[in-house]
Amino acid sequence: MAVNEQEVEQIVKQILNQISGNSAGASAVSPAGKNAVGTAIPATAHVAMLTELEKFEVKEYPMPQVGDDDILVKVEGCGVCGTDAHEFKRDPFSLIPVALGHEGTGEIVKMGKNVKKDSAGKDLHLGDKVVTCMIFQDDPEITMYDLNKQNVGAADVYGLLPDDDVHLNGWFSDYILIRGGSTVFNVSDLDLDSRILIEPCAVLIHAVERAKTTGILRFNSRVVVQGCGPIGLICIAVLRTMGIENITAVDGNQARLDFAKRLGASQTVSFKDFQGLEALTGAVKDSFGGHLADFAFQCTGNPMAHANIYKFIRNGGGLCELGFFVNGGDATINPHFDMCSKEITLVGSWVYTLRDYATTFDFLKRAKGIGLPMSELITHKYPLEQINEALKTNLAMTGLKIAIVNQ
Ligand SMILES: [Zn+2]
Repeated sequence: MAVNEQEVEQIVKQILNQISGNSAGASAVSPAGKNAVGTAIPATAHVAMLTELEKFEVKEYPMPQVGDDDILVKVEGCGVCGTDAHEFKRDPFSLIPVALGHEGTGEIVKMGKNVKKDSAGKDLHLGDKVVTCMIFQDDPEITMYDLNKQNVGAADVYGLLPDDDVHLNGWFSDYILIRGGSTVFNVSDLDLDSRILIEPCAVLIHAVERAKTTGILRFNSRVVVQGCGPIGLICIAVLRTMGIENITAVDGNQARLDFAKRLGASQTVSFKDFQGLEALTGAVKDSFGGHLADFAFQCTGNPMAHANIYKFIRNGGGLCELGFFVNGGDATINPHFDMCSKEITLVGSWVYTLRDYATTFDFLKRAKGIGLPMSELITHKYPLEQINEALKTNLAMTGLKIAIVNQ
């Protein structure tokens, strides 16, 4: 965010006032005042507001009061999600005007006197780096220290809230106000890129936990991951950090397949090289030395891909379907040949639990520890002012993860 001259002037004035012990000027700067570390908080915040389809406007709002249970966060960055792209193009939830961005992270610059711990029971201090998860305002019991809760898909999330008087409701901004009762995690021990990747990674931690319930996924399993967008690629990285080494990635894009190898795939198959499902199944089989897969993860949003993937799985094998975060239409399978006679164990996966969210922080540390190039998943970084370009790049699908990063 570029600081304009007037803001610089105000900040200098405030600092001078502090030094001379004259606090009279400070109230003119911001109702939020300054934080304990001494960083001046500007009088206004900037929020990328989606004001009409395919149009964000960066709006300026007064910095809100920080209540006793609230946290004011200076935003460092936020990933662009498929959900943001849906909103940008079609506004399916009729949220316009809306402040989007839910894969965000930043630094606590001010907090209310009642704020002491994060949702996992970890201390919170000024200067700590945080992420939000879901808000359970209707059930405050769910947030604190008990992460063993159900799938969190139905809850509210910053970046998909209706606009209100505060306006600082999404992470595509330079400041966000985390209201009391929200789920917030202290992730100060992760670098910025890792923090931006937490939310999509949590989706895969959950999917793999679902897969493990089948009892079929083992260290020496032959695993096929179909689809090498961000979700499929992260799936490979999660499997690799678990010690699963025999992974075949399937996609039609060679650059993505090459990256899949660097994230832990041992073999790749480009469906563009094979005519018809039988030939493709043969290629998958060849990749495992003449065996079908023990387990498959379906990571595309294409119903045909769901129908096809059964062919890649051995009798008694398992399948985790996680490609349909939203309705992508119907798929046709043959229940006898694809499921019953092969005795396939199928699990569906959607969103994550709070426990998965916390597990994700450790996954990201392990991935870094074994040298997986996770940060290269973020292929494009834009400043807040270029958010419209960022969304267009996301829609063009020329990159992997697109992120807004504040200077
Ligand atoms: Zn997301």
